[in-house]
Amino acid sequence: MILHAGNVIKQTLDTAKVEVKIKNGHEPYTEADVKVQTLIIKGIKSLWPNLLIIGEEEEVFEGKFDFNLEEFRKDLVSNDLFKELESTKVNINDIIVWIDPLDGTSEFIQGCLESVTTLIGVSIKGESKMGILGKYYTRKGKYDFNWIPKCYFAHSDCPHVYYVDYSDPNHVKEFIRPNSEQRLAICTSKSKSALQRFKKYFDIIQPDQILQVGGAGNKFLHVIEGNSDCYFYASPGLNKWDICAGEAILKSIGGVMMNTLNEKFKYEKDKSTWTCGQGFVACKCPEIYLKVSQKCFENNT
Ligand SMILES: [Mg+2]
Repeated sequence: MILHAGNVIKQTLDTAKVEVKIKNGHEPYTEADVKVQTLIIKGIKSLWPNLLIIGEEEEVFEGKFDFNLEEFRKDLVSNDLFKELESTKVNINDIIVWIDPLDGTSEFIQGCLESVTTLIGVSIKGESKMGILGKYYTRKGKYDFNWIPKCYFAHSDCPHVYYVDYSDPNHVKEFIRPNSEQRLAICTSKSKSALQRFKKYFDIIQPDQILQVGGAGNKFLHVIEGNSDCYFYASPGLNKWDICAGEAILKSIGGVMMNTLNEKFKYEKDKSTWTCGQGFVACKCPEIYLKVSQKCFENNT
């Protein structure tokens, strides 16, 4: 499904000038956003018709896809990869799938393709549990990108992050996070205004490095892959589909994610709960989380 999503994104870029539309007054979106979400929803529904799926886009793609949705399978990933998980029965009504079909749309429009990801998160009883993250491009030069689609996936209760590199799609590999140095690298929003808004926090935290990176999924990946130790975003603006997949994968490496009140996020179907409130801190480990949150948010001890 992720590879098809990547192909739709690539085709949109390859065929013509990307048409940008605006939703909710100021948020840009493209045909690729709508098409990818429709394909993922149809794909999931073909396997689990009764699952509740909440996606970022409201529009539905009415055209035809040039591949067969029937070819999606449940058995692509062996259960052996998750052998540490206890087998439990889950009521389908307790599961929600959260989709951001094209995370980093602004960057996509600007041509910063390394920021673009597709996010599929699964919450069970209000907690993020599974994350699937598609990343398609890596930067080669200033305006040059390599198309190297990859799909990362993990279960929050199982200490492995797996990935499939589509140049070798039959082999699932485990991603081993490199041990990072004794330093604190924080990644945050690419926008200048966010940097100004967070300056008061960064002045207190005194990180060794601040990386401004596009896309929520891409920032989670920065922490998961070891380029950053913390994803800092103490500001409104994000929604649960931006974070569910990333949080689940982060927890599988032992990471911690909390809102600015030191609370875990709850993933619920009530629309009024879909935003991420005043933002969050997502760290590679509890020690870094304590260090950052204690310094920034007085009530977090
Ligand atoms: Mg999006």
